[in-house]
Amino acid sequence: MPDPSHPVPPETESNADIVVVGAGLIGVTSALALARQGHRVLVLDKQEPGRGASYGNAGHMATEQVFPIADASILKSLPGMLVDPMGPLRLDWKYLPRALPWLTRLVLNLRPEPFARSVAGIRALNERSLAAWHRLLASVDSAHLLRVDGSLLVYEKSESRHKLEALEARMREQQVPVERWDQDAVQRAAPQLSDDLLGGLFFPATGHVLDPWRVVNILVDAAKQEGVQFEQASVQSARLTDSGVALMTDAGERRASQVLLACGAHSAELTAQLTGKHVPLDTERGYHLMLPREHDRLPFAVTSLERRFIMTPMETGLRLAGTVEFAGLDAPPNMARAWQLHRLSQGLFKTDLDAETATPWMGFRPSLPDSLPIIDRLENGRVLLAFGHHHLGLTQSAITAELIADLAGPADGHASVERYDLPPLDPYRLSRFG
Ligand SMILES: Cc1cc2nc3c(=O)[nH]c(=O)nc-3n(C[C@H](O)[C@H](O)[C@H](O)COP(=O)(O)OP(=O)(O)OC[C@H]3O[C@@H](n4cnc5c(N)ncnc54)[C@H](O)[C@@H]3O)c2cc1C
Repeated sequence: MPDPSHPVPPETESNADIVVVGAGLIGVTSALALARQGHRVLVLDKQEPGRGASYGNAGHMATEQVFPIADASILKSLPGMLVDPMGPLRLDWKYLPRALPWLTRLVLNLRPEPFARSVAGIRALNERSLAAWHRLLASVDSAHLLRVDGSLLVYEKSESRHKLEALEARMREQQVPVERWDQDAVQRAAPQLSDDLLGGLFFPATGHVLDPWRVVNILVDAAKQEGVQFEQASVQSARLTDSGVALMTDAGERRASQVLLACGAHSAELTAQLTGKHVPLDTERGYHLMLPREHDRLPFAVTSLERRFIMTPMETGLRLAGTVEFAGLDAPPNMARAWQLHRLSQGLFKTDLDAETATPWMGFRPSLPDSLPIIDRLENGRVLLAFGHHHLGLTQSAITAELIADLAGPADGHASVERYDLPPLDPYRLSRFG
């Protein structure tokens, strides 16, 4: 039933039954999965697809990262990190009043019970994520874009050894496949790395994509072939109607029977408008520096334990990525932080990386204080939610899309696509925030 108080101008009426807001990895993988369930899908994004956080992430299929973004040990090093403007973690003091409730929740999540719940929730997604990616990429003839040849965490100071060993023990406890490598093993596998590195942890069940943006674009093309429409429009507000939802965009109103909110770090306001719930979503801003002249330095992604950043070999060069900055969605990027990644790389290789023609980038990780995304279906199925994947949105997007397709079910008269081993939804429900 159309809502008589808001007549729809015929030129803006969409013929989709599901509108997806956000064409990042989460929105695009979900749109494709929904179309394969027979739904007519329209994807709205204010910019071209894949230009948000999904554009510049480190490309790491980080299945080994089963712990929340903060643990008790970080509290000790936090003060030192926060006063260093170029450190791996930075808080813009002007942003502190807005970040404080989120940070408080983060600290409360360090208590054993909620922490264990987060670990279980992350594991349930991570352990299924590679299989979901294999299915997805095989279905679009692009399996070659994902290399599952492991990743390496290196350390260089003897005093870090106990930290590495403790991490290894915690990971083994969580059934993360991990191997301890000594100095020689590191040199054999990655001979360009400095021989000052003392060793590390190798994670065989991880991998990387050759270019996250290319992956998004291949999925966009596949979605279009399945009938998904893409439109560049910014959604300014949303409301429920008797028969579904109405979205006010800068290109007019769009209506459908269901909406999927997948706008990454920008999802809180629309969620509040549609569900009346205020989610504690904030952004951990992250940076990368892309080095186009450094294709062949590394065989797989390498992270430094002490320097806290990652280097991933991609088809477009070597990507240095990392750092967490709390400064909100509106402050301009501080690209000095991206260039700092190059300085951090100095000493990790036998010869320094060539940063000529390098390009810096900043993106908004969508982060909830318990390090779990929100994946849910509300308001009699009119509202689907998929956001808040923080540091793991690439890793978890294919499995999230399968969950969303399962939540939406097949379109009328369409047979359901094969249901794989999906995790239970409870840990990801919006209701956990009251
Ligand atoms: C430096 C860095 C490194 C990372 N490395 C990794 C990694 O190695 N592995 C990993 O798994 N994850 C990594 N991540 C995290 C990952 O990139 C994100 O979790 C993921 O991209 C989130 O995807 P998304 O689709 O939810 O959001 P996004 O990609 O940000 O997409 C959201 C989209 O919504 C659109 N949008 C927002 N509001 C509106 C609106 N009102 N109307 C219309 N459109 C709107 C935006 O334009 C955007 O395109 C990294 C992130 C960063 C920043």
